[in-house]
Parts: sequence; structure tokens; C-alpha cells
Amino acid sequence: IRLHLAEEKVCRDITELFRDDFIRALQESFLWPTEACALLLGPDCGHFDIYASWNITLPKVPKPPVVPPTPPKPGSPQSRVLFLTDIHWDAQYAEGSAIKCKEPLCCRNESGTPTWRHPGAGYWGTYSNCDLPLRTVENLLQNVAKAGPWDWVYWTGDIPAHNVWSQTRAQQLNELTIISKLVKKYLGPKVTVYPAVGNHESTPVNSFPPPFVQGNRSSQWLYDTMAEEWATWLPAEALETLRFNCCVCFGCFLFFSRYESTITGQFFGHTHVDQFQMFYDQETMTRPVGVAYIAPSVTTYINLNPGYRVYYVDGNYPGSSRIVLDYDTFILNLTLANDPVWSLLYRASTAYDMPILFPSNWDALIKNFLTDDRVFQKFWYLMHKGHVSEPCKDTCKTSLICFLRSGRYDLLQQSVHTPQYYAFVCQMFFCL
Ligand SMILES: [Zn+2]
Repeated sequence: IRLHLAEEKVCRDITELFRDDFIRALQESFLWPTEACALLLGPDCGHFDIYASWNITLPKVPKPPVVPPTPPKPGSPQSRVLFLTDIHWDAQYAEGSAIKCKEPLCCRNESGTPTWRHPGAGYWGTYSNCDLPLRTVENLLQNVAKAGPWDWVYWTGDIPAHNVWSQTRAQQLNELTIISKLVKKYLGPKVTVYPAVGNHESTPVNSFPPPFVQGNRSSQWLYDTMAEEWATWLPAEALETLRFNCCVCFGCFLFFSRYESTITGQFFGHTHVDQFQMFYDQETMTRPVGVAYIAPSVTTYINLNPGYRVYYVDGNYPGSSRIVLDYDTFILNLTLANDPVWSLLYRASTAYDMPILFPSNWDALIKNFLTDDRVFQKFWYLMHKGHVSEPCKDTCKTSLICFLRSGRYDLLQQSVHTPQYYAFVCQMFFCL
């Protein structure tokens, strides 16, 4: 409250929500005081490298031979893959409510009435700190159902809204259940959906206690419902893993570098904007070996159009490479949205003039950003799903390019995408 991080009520409620987990973590922590302080308040307060202890021991067998990717024969079959991420349905979304408010999430009944300067929240969504009403999520699902059938679907979580100070387990489970049922209803029983858990599925947000935490403070309440709702899509072992414990993975870049000729794509959401991240070989850090695609969110949070992604993947036929050949990003343009039309914002190969989407092509595109600012500003516009307020220059540009080159999942843990944020992460990884 004294630091003015948020409104008093928000601070009080979120402290209450985190209290039990925080005390438990403090009791069981092995950290020295300076380490704890660095973890909580940053490097000014002490030293702690949260990723230092993450060592991955790779098998002693040598790295498999590097096979440079080759394009498939013209006319080879392609799979169409739907990618949905960061839905963030706000059950309290209220058309006509204030779009600017004291809380971190607006466009809700509690946000108050609009002022003369800002009109009220829109019917389908709003450019502000707002999530989506259910009708927009349902409209999206109707729309993608018409565009099917899909060969398969990736759905990386974050179903609930951003009211992280006032969430309850019952609400989180209700939202998980309702959206999972809608996905099943619209996409039909035949398509396989590969769902993943987002950091917002839990409450308190980001709270995924390790497996040794048992009983009421564990994540069992969440994993059990997920296993039930997702049972139709996932094989028995995956459901077991889910029930046992999930998911978040750091330090894998060594693994991805080792198996560069086997892993043909990595698919992420979480930042809400449309990006990619490069991986380079461990020896020289100059040869591009992989790319992680970061697809844009369904939600508008913050100031974005709603969106989704479609990938085109080589296959399925004997010997298919499963390489990502191209992708499309679709948006619902809220400035035109009396009648909701989900339209193609761009196709990667066309927008960036790339014959195919190999890691070397993405690397060349980044070099192009440095020499031709128009291409970079186009990327900046597409990254925000066609809704930007200011161009990205100077530190913003350098830092964002650094981010695209840095291929580290730990950087993805923050969904902040301001110029200051990129400057911050890049200081951390000395790219500048
Ligand atoms: Zn999210």
C-alpha cells in the first residue's frame, strides 16, 4: 500500500490470498537472508541466481549429426494446426462499464461508470486493461469450427481473467470446466486437442507447489479437474503426469540445441503478443538451430485485438519432416467489430518475404530489422495484432531484437512487453 503498487483493496486481498503459501515457502526455504531478499526485491538487495542450480545432464552419447532442414517436395501434404492461447475469459465483464479504473483489470461492474472522456466497455471487447466476455470466446470457437477440420489443436492455458487479487478455487475450476466444454462442443469429438497449463490456472496466480507439498496446499484441486476435463484428448500416461505434477520447464535450451535436427518446432503463448525467439548453437552462438513461436493471445489484455494462430506443418505422409512451413495470424479488429469478423492479419511468408520458415530465415529477418527499419516497424505492428499506439525506436528496438535473439524461457515468465521490460531483460543477459 505504501509503495503504491496497487489500490489498497487489491493489496489487502492479494496479500490474504498469498499468505498461507508464502509462510509455508518461508518456513521450508533454504535461502540465506541476502538470497531471499534478492529473490523478492531484485539484485540491489542481494545476490541470487534463480536459474543457477538448473543443471541438465545430457546423455554421454555424442550429439546426433546435424542435418540441415530441406523443404518438402512441392505438393506434399500439409497439416493445419490450430493454436489457441491466453483466452482470459472475464465472467464479470460488463458492456458499458468503465475502461479506466483503479484496479489492474477494468471493464467490470466494479470498475464504475465511464467518464465523458472514455466511453464504456465494448460489446465484444475493449482496448484497455480488460479481458474478454464469454460471447467473444464463443464467437471465436464458432469461427474456428467453421474453418476446420483441424489436424490437431494446441491450447496453451490461461483461461481465467486477470483479477488475480479476488479469485477463488471454485471460480477457477468453473472457468476451466466451461471453456473446456465449449472447446469440445465447437471443435467436435474427432479432433485431438493438446492442452497445457498456464500460470493463471491456479490461484494464487503462479502458485504450483512442488510434488512434496501434499494435502490442501497442493495443486491437486486443479490437476484433478484438468485430468477430468481433458480426459478425452490425452492418453492415460499424460493424465497421470498431470495428476502427479506439472509442467514448467527452464534451462531446456541445452536440450533443444543438442536435438536441433529432431525438434522441428516449439510453440508458446503467454506474452499475449505475437513474437518468436531464436536458439543458436552452443559453440559459436551464431548458427541458428531453432525457433520458438510465441503466438498472440485470444484476450485483448492489454490494448490488443483478440487473435489466434494457424500453423502449416509438413505431413502427414511416410517420412514427413514435421517442419513448420508457414503460419497465419487471425484477429478480430475491435475498431470494426459491430459485426464480429475474424480476419487474416498476416501470413508469415508473405509479410516477411520468406520462402520458408527455417531458423536461418528468421535469423536473416532479424538482420533485416537492423538494416531496414520499415520491416522492423511492420513486425512491431503485427506483434501487437494490428493495434499499436507508438512506434518502437532506440532502446525499445535494440532490446526487443535482443529478446528475439535470446531464446530463454525464463524471459517468457513475465507477460510484460513494454520497452522498459526488454531493456531490463537484456541488461540481465548482456546482449546490449
Ligand atoms: Zn496470459
